[in-house]
Amino acid sequence: MNSCGVSLSAATVALGDEAKKMAAGKASRDSEEESLSLTVEEREALGGMDSRLFGFVRLHEDGARMKTLLGKAVRCYESLILKAEGKVDSDFFCQLGHFNLLLEDYSKALSAYQRYYSLQSDYWKNAAFLYGLGLVYFYYNAFHWAIKAFQDVLYVDPSFCRAKEIHLRLGLMFKVNTDYKSSLKHFQLALIDCNPCTLSSAEIQFHIAHLYETQRKYHSAKEAYEQLLQTENLPAQVKATVLQQLGWMHHNMDIVGDKASKESYAIQYLQKSLEADPNSGQSWYFLGRCYSSIGKVQDAFISYRQSIDKSEASADTWCSIGVLYQQQNQPMDALQAYICAVQLDHGHAAAWMDLGTLYESCNQPQDAIKCYLNATRSKRCSNTSTLAARIKFLQNGSDNWNVVQSLSHHPVQQVYSLCLTPQKLQHLEQLRANRDNLSPAQKRQLEQLESQFVLMQQVRHKGVAQGLHKSQSSCVSGPNEEQPVFSTESAQYQQATSTGIKKPNEHLTLPSNSVPQRNADSHLSSHIATSGGQQGIIFTKESKPSKNRSLVPETSRHTGDTSNGCADVKGLSNHVHQLIADAVSSPNHGDSPNLLIGDNPQLSALLIGKANDNVGTGTCDKVNNIHPAVHTKTDHSVASSPSSAISTATPSPKSTEQASINSVTSLNSPHSGIHTVNGEGLENSQNSTKVDLPLVSHRSTSQIIPSMSVSICPSSTEVLKAFRNLGKNGLSNSCVLLDKCPPPRPPTSPYPPLPKDKLNPPTPSIYLENKRDAFFPPLHQFCTNPKNPVTVIRGLAGALKLDLGLFSTKTLVEANNEHMVEVRTQLLQPADENWDPTGTKKIWHCESNRSHTTIAKYAQYQASSFQESLREENEKRTQHKDHSDNESTSSENSGRRRKGPFKTIKFGTNIDLSDNKKWKLQLHELTKLPAFVRVVSAGNLLSHVGHTILGMNTVQLYMKVPGSRTPGHQENNNFCSVNINIGPGDCEWFVVPEDYWGVLNDFCEKNNLNFLMSSWWPNLEDLYEANVPVYRFIQRPGDLVWINAGTVHWVQAVGWCNNIAWNVGPLTACQYKLAVERYEWNKLKSVKSPVPMVHLSWNMARNIKVSDPKLFEMIKYCLLKILKQCQTLREALVAAGKEVIWHGRTNDEPAHYCSICEVEVFNLLFVTNESNTQKTYIVHCQDCARKTSRSLENFVVLEQYKMEDLIQVYDQFTLTSFFPDTAEEIGSC
Ligand SMILES: [Zn+2]
Repeated sequence: MNSCGVSLSAATVALGDEAKKMAAGKASRDSEEESLSLTVEEREALGGMDSRLFGFVRLHEDGARMKTLLGKAVRCYESLILKAEGKVDSDFFCQLGHFNLLLEDYSKALSAYQRYYSLQSDYWKNAAFLYGLGLVYFYYNAFHWAIKAFQDVLYVDPSFCRAKEIHLRLGLMFKVNTDYKSSLKHFQLALIDCNPCTLSSAEIQFHIAHLYETQRKYHSAKEAYEQLLQTENLPAQVKATVLQQLGWMHHNMDIVGDKASKESYAIQYLQKSLEADPNSGQSWYFLGRCYSSIGKVQDAFISYRQSIDKSEASADTWCSIGVLYQQQNQPMDALQAYICAVQLDHGHAAAWMDLGTLYESCNQPQDAIKCYLNATRSKRCSNTSTLAARIKFLQNGSDNWNVVQSLSHHPVQQVYSLCLTPQKLQHLEQLRANRDNLSPAQKRQLEQLESQFVLMQQVRHKGVAQGLHKSQSSCVSGPNEEQPVFSTESAQYQQATSTGIKKPNEHLTLPSNSVPQRNADSHLSSHIATSGGQQGIIFTKESKPSKNRSLVPETSRHTGDTSNGCADVKGLSNHVHQLIADAVSSPNHGDSPNLLIGDNPQLSALLIGKANDNVGTGTCDKVNNIHPAVHTKTDHSVASSPSSAISTATPSPKSTEQASINSVTSLNSPHSGIHTVNGEGLENSQNSTKVDLPLVSHRSTSQIIPSMSVSICPSSTEVLKAFRNLGKNGLSNSCVLLDKCPPPRPPTSPYPPLPKDKLNPPTPSIYLENKRDAFFPPLHQFCTNPKNPVTVIRGLAGALKLDLGLFSTKTLVEANNEHMVEVRTQLLQPADENWDPTGTKKIWHCESNRSHTTIAKYAQYQASSFQESLREENEKRTQHKDHSDNESTSSENSGRRRKGPFKTIKFGTNIDLSDNKKWKLQLHELTKLPAFVRVVSAGNLLSHVGHTILGMNTVQLYMKVPGSRTPGHQENNNFCSVNINIGPGDCEWFVVPEDYWGVLNDFCEKNNLNFLMSSWWPNLEDLYEANVPVYRFIQRPGDLVWINAGTVHWVQAVGWCNNIAWNVGPLTACQYKLAVERYEWNKLKSVKSPVPMVHLSWNMARNIKVSDPKLFEMIKYCLLKILKQCQTLREALVAAGKEVIWHGRTNDEPAHYCSICEVEVFNLLFVTNESNTQKTYIVHCQDCARKTSRSLENFVVLEQYKMEDLIQVYDQFTLTSFFPDTAEEIGSC
């Protein structure tokens, strides 16, 4: 627990001192002060209290004393700050933040933390502060900021005592953000950690299983769920939820054979789930859906009934009941049920749509129109364009209906207003059942309700009912042939997906005709899931199930399945199910005795996505209030009234009661804009958070390698002598001689911004005429000049007489037709744009799904794609002559609105040409290249790694059809890259200079994409807006593109072509610096660095003579840092009695990475006993080893280098004085 920078006891002691000082200074004080000072014992007790205890202190029952103490401490600190007019040590604020956090007073905690942040320039050294701040952000759903704060903690203190809690929360947040890869990694890191955290390992495992499900990896999910069921002593709630998930998944997915058996499995699972938790309204609801789908109507009704009894009435349940009635030809009952649904949730788009369909089927188009309009007004309606078309159709066709309609016209609003709410209906039923034992008040209530009911019945029979019954027959044949303009399925899918998303950074004002992108969809699902996972009990038991859930697409059976409303009905329907399934994942923690989740409001923050209405009040108010509270504070105002500034925020804890009240009130206010309010609230909070807490922007640094004078490079003996006295108390990474580095930050956008007319700069290009040009030394300098983010070397292949035919598809097939090709399935997008799959709006996320094939098969695809396009071209030409008029009009129409649906294409990528036996001719041909672009050369850092890094220091091949896209990226560890187009077609490149990567990173974050891991295609308009220059050019066959260190780029094939590419690392200060910076950034982001920079730096020191002082200093500094780490770690291990076993290394042994967290492990390898015996050597880093085995009893420590040898290498690595012309010459020394 000592790993954090802030000395807390020091802070409290200081408080005492401060108090004394003040007492001395201002002699007379009133008696109040006495009661406001802390006793020595109290100070002692508070000494160890900080954010790390969050979730582990009990404040209720036995913890009441603790609560009182914390409360007193807060008052005491506040009054002290007030008296000192804010001029207190910054640690006071930090401590005040901790106390408020422990008291779960988040707004005050945030306020205090922000104060600390603004006062303490090296705040980042204080892990407890960052952790507390992360928890507060997490509570407010400000995931973006929470992630940053948590990642900082792990960066500055990888052995932080709450690392497990951090990984768990990162896992949850990444799941919400649909960054599944990162999510899984963090869940796994949480799982291996044997320290305590707020979820049990069963619950973490549940989240992992659910993560698979969210990604539609159903078989993995099923396996993981089933494995979880085998766990001994599985808590009943987890068991119930797992079974519920399994049941629902079986109902929705084709995991097992035919429909009959899958439903039977589903029903079995759900019944078992109900055995484990008989009170789950959700399980009853699902069971009803299963019964409904196999036609067991009575069972379905019973289950729905149970669902409504067990949980609060849910719009979804009522909607499903409506569907069931409609199928039973009971339109009046259906009507009633739908109306219950929309009364419960006026924004329930699916219910409005089903209601509309019902009216339509009863020849009441005007009412149908009103319902559809209501549906389109719902935030959760996302197929509005289809609906709008339907409305238009009905409006135009309504002439034909007038006769029928006049008979039965009963406006929809009237029905709506006359109906009893489901709660009232339920209440009525209860009262009726108890008729004999009612109090007078209850009797009056009953009378009232009865009369309302009668009124309702009358309306129903007089008006709508007639219409409905009458038209029932016409529903079957009748004029409804065009009815299925939209499938309810897709509608519901969209409804479900766009429901009440409370993603902090989401723009909630979607254009009304937009269909949410897939991202948002899955986001939602995961959001629900996570929330459920957090504390299902609160919401499953006390509040109504989420509105997010959609209902079964049963009605789509009526309407047929001609849906043209969505591009991929099957996919979408899968989504529906998935979403529904997600909605229920709610393992319960309330019962676990050692957990405090049940009453842990900050965890419930995640549930905001689920409990829609909640956000309207509690949380959102708070979020909004954070900023005023903090923002208005000038130093002065704070000084004068710290407590008032602190207490501006509403302290009301979120309660479920509140939630349900809200849901009722929101019913009658269709346009109350609750969502917008929420949205704005959250958005504001984002914005103002940015203003208040410029964690990123202001303190942008690249201090990983601070530029420094050579003087800080003392001889190793001195250094180590100094180290020897350190590290006595544990294995802390902190150091005295080498200051800790702050967490890396992306660069802010270069200032001043480029004028708009400079945003399309010409691409640096060099035309080669002959071999001499290619080997002309300045060419190398030009390419590696940091001012040129990219260089196109035109006509290189011709100048060098390279035989590109060796890389033609034909030759490749002849050479190795069975060779593996990684395939990316993508959408064929228009030119430089990237649209969502439905073609509704431009997005950053770029579809690129991975699979595998062989060269032969891909070649076949490539050829047939070419043939097909020839054929199409011919057809077009003939068609064009005939229909030239039509085309012009249709293209006009499509210009503004829809683009899709898009054709699917396949891109053959990352084909490994490293095998010198298989690709001898090809690889030999590339040795004709000038040294600085060659795959292997003395001046190439990657040739000094000493082992293969596939695709980096080996060649990769790409096989393309037009539209094949390499999404935006920087190269691994910011190395340079070389790319030659083989042809016959061209490629188009988009390039952004390195110093703008922070801007692109921000765009990715805004779009919920992982800059390092996701597939994204920048929207050029966004970049233009943000003053980001984009180089754009065509790479013809034979052209070589040199991507300089750190340059961001994305590429698409214009024609059919192959490319070859690899990385090189020129021996420049810039390259080394950017590589190390990315190495650190990767560490912060928990992403593996393909280039082992530590290992490489030592190899460089051994093999290369460096004459560039800047490069030399950086390398020397890194070596020094590593040397010190090795030394302190080794000594600490020995001091702790842990044997360090000499292991050495073989010549071409690759660098090692931790098998858990994937950081590079240098010199001291933590290998599990078992794998050491088996000689498989599963390597861990120290931190991961300690997480699984606190005192390392399960590990042996293997040493690969003698300290003396490292010291010698360090000392012998000196600056070379000679000054050569080119790096190649340096390298060749
Ligand atoms: Zn590790």
